[in-house]
Amino acid sequence: MTERIIPVADLRYLQAVPHIPEKLLPATGLLSDKLGRPLRDLRISVTDRCNFRCVYCMPKEIFDKDYQFLPHGLLLSFEEITRVAKIFVAHGVEKLRLTGGEPLLRKHIETLIAMLAQVRTPEGKPLDLTMTTNGSLLAKKAQALKDAGLQRVTVSLDSLDEGIFQKMNDVDFPVADVLHGIEVAHKVGLGPIKVNMVVKKGVNDQEIVPMARHFKGTPVILRFIEYMDVGASNGWKMDEVVPSAEVVRRISEHLPLEEIEPNYTGETAERWRYKDGSGEIGVISSVTQAFCSDCNRARLSTEGKLFTCLFATGGHDLRALLRGGHSDEEITAAISHLWALRDDRYSELRTANTDGLERPVRKVEMSYIGG
Ligand code: SAM
Repeated sequence: MTERIIPVADLRYLQAVPHIPEKLLPATGLLSDKLGRPLRDLRISVTDRCNFRCVYCMPKEIFDKDYQFLPHGLLLSFEEITRVAKIFVAHGVEKLRLTGGEPLLRKHIETLIAMLAQVRTPEGKPLDLTMTTNGSLLAKKAQALKDAGLQRVTVSLDSLDEGIFQKMNDVDFPVADVLHGIEVAHKVGLGPIKVNMVVKKGVNDQEIVPMARHFKGTPVILRFIEYMDVGASNGWKMDEVVPSAEVVRRISEHLPLEEIEPNYTGETAERWRYKDGSGEIGVISSVTQAFCSDCNRARLSTEGKLFTCLFATGGHDLRALLRGGHSDEEITAAISHLWALRDDRYSELRTANTDGLERPVRKVEMSYIGG
């Protein structure tokens, strides 16, 4: 059996209250970290709860009925999230992604979306406002999300095969309901829709080609994600990863592909299009081809901790500043300060040293920080 680390003394990971520099310089939109990377993308986790128990993300043995999810009072309120988002946008963030847990489980999420949809960049442009969801509640909520100002959604779907999908989500959730959610989201205009499939060797890799066939020729962009060693609860092993190169090779054997240019610097997915012109797919190779060098993302946890890397062990407690009576100017300066110190490049170091996958400190769970 795989050895699992059970969170006994759960301090919700290491944390530090950000330092506020003496000189409160205003945001310029031009932050640069130690490796010269800007800040453009903020992922906001709105809940640590999920109605799925995906085996690679929130395994049932750990996230069971006794697991202590965060009490409501510890979550950032919609007003606090919007306040932080505005500060980040002044710092150069152009894209906000709501995630979780399952973001559609957060009550009145459309109210938050409506608040964020009002935010403008310093140039007066609207933000790229999106959400990652498991799709289970999408059919019901798509219209309200669209009306509130959400632009598009990314839906996670790991298989079209009922048996495999239900084994992976581990709550017997049917494929058809997720597909219906995608259809409704498309109808109400939440596109372009992306579908993310996490590929785990021996579990769902036989679904790579059927998934490609299913979405080929539709407006949906399918993306294959390498199974990652996030968190400490999924018992990750390198030999369970199907490298993206292998994914592309397997699809190309049946449905020929050619590589295309990224849409923008820092895009996580490598893009490939069908040679017959019937659409594109993406591959996200955070294990075999790390893309730390242009990572411009920050992550805000459900309770307001800022993480500068998906693989971080600790966050910076922005909630302490928000609830500690600090001004926007102070929080702005604190974020500048910590971004200037950022030197995370976990995936590159892991790729360089795949044998050295020691985990001396507990890494943050994906369900807590958001995907
Ligand atoms: N509940 C939402 C969902 O299912 O999309 C949002 C949160 S979920 C943590 C975000 C994404 O992370 C999902 O696409 C999920 O498949 C992916 N994910 C979770 N654990 C992962 C892992 N170990 N490796 C790769 N992707 C992972």
